[in-house]
Amino acid sequence: MVNAKCPVCDEEVDIGSKPQPETTIDCPYCDTTLVIKRTGRKWILEVFEGEEEEGEELEEGEEEEDLF
Ligand SMILES: [Zn+2]
Repeated sequence: MVNAKCPVCDEEVDIGSKPQPETTIDCPYCDTTLVIKRTGRKWILEVFEGEEEEGEELEEGEEEEDLF
């Protein structure tokens, strides 16, 4: 098992026995999406601030727009 430190909440997060670099994981403690990165023999986690591939557009509020 490999652990890496969450940069947000400083908790050790289990990233599995065979972590894959550049994959994302959700921190179980603070729910931040993190990217797994490898530096030498160490694994680190960085906050994921990337493109959202799955664009779920939540269109709430049915406001009628009267644009003339
Ligand atoms: Zn965290």
